[in-house]
Amino acid sequence: ETMIKFDQVNKIYENGTVGLKDISFEVPRGEFLVVVGLSGAGKSTLLRTINRMHAITSGNIEVNGQSIIHLKGKALRELRQQVGMIFQSFNLVKRSSVLRNVLSGCVSYYPTWKSVCGLFSKKDQQRAYAALKQVSMAEKIYMRADELSGGQQQRVAIARTLMQNPQIILADEPIASLDPVTTKAVMDDLKRLNQKLGITVIVNLHSVELAREYADRIIGLRAGQLVYDEPIANVTTEA
Ligand code: ADP
Ligand code: ADP
Repeated sequence: ETMIKFDQVNKIYENGTVGLKDISFEVPRGEFLVVVGLSGAGKSTLLRTINRMHAITSGNIEVNGQSIIHLKGKALRELRQQVGMIFQSFNLVKRSSVLRNVLSGCVSYYPTWKSVCGLFSKKDQQRAYAALKQVSMAEKIYMRADELSGGQQQRVAIARTLMQNPQIILADEPIASLDPVTTKAVMDDLKRLNQKLGITVIVNLHSVELAREYADRIIGLRAGQLVYDEPIANVTTEA
């Protein structure tokens, strides 16, 4: 079953920079896909077209069998609810507690007046606790975000994304600022969510080593073009 389908996608930024050039590929549901490539290759652009943070210039993208390029209003919010995203910089509210940060994940797409004011139901709080358990952060629930290590902050960001019940998680260089130990914790969390919950995961990485360790499949970008696409079994160990 195809979860994401790119069909001859081009993305040219307003200043004329080519972001993506004639990209076609499909991602089956439940795949752990790693995107590799040098800085500026288009990895971040690729991820951001999947939740429509960036509009494409031509071609088509389908998510769950539905073209997303003309979505508006409620349908666009539904797409963004289905597609969680985490970033290199975590984007937590530093002076808020871990719990508050995770709860904020249920505000983004369907805000109620209570949630906007920071009031959450018992059920939401239980869901937040369950999400934190998924990333082994339940015992840090009342700590302030800025008291956590980088790896722990990224795991809280993953828990926040889980509040959306996403079918897809996009991770844009999630471990770029982390040390090897915390890197492993974050990658293990993503892999566990992929395997346990069946979430389709796409991760942008610099490290080919990590890509080989975690991916079901690796695609490579160079200057906005798809230049490599292999299942992990075909990925050789030489450079
Ligand atoms: P990567 O994630 O692989 O480092 P990006 O997707 O960030 O690559 O960038 C791909 C190309 O698009 C680069 O040449 C970059 O400078 C350019 N680019 C990225 N974002 C923008 C933007 N908002 N406006 C113009 N050019 C951009
Ligand atoms: P990790 O367990 O993710 O590898 P570290 O080894 O960096 O985290 O940190 C070990 C402990 O120190 C953690 O319990 C973390 O909460 C705490 N810690 C890390 N950075 C800070 C900080 N800036 N302020 C307070 N506590 C911190």
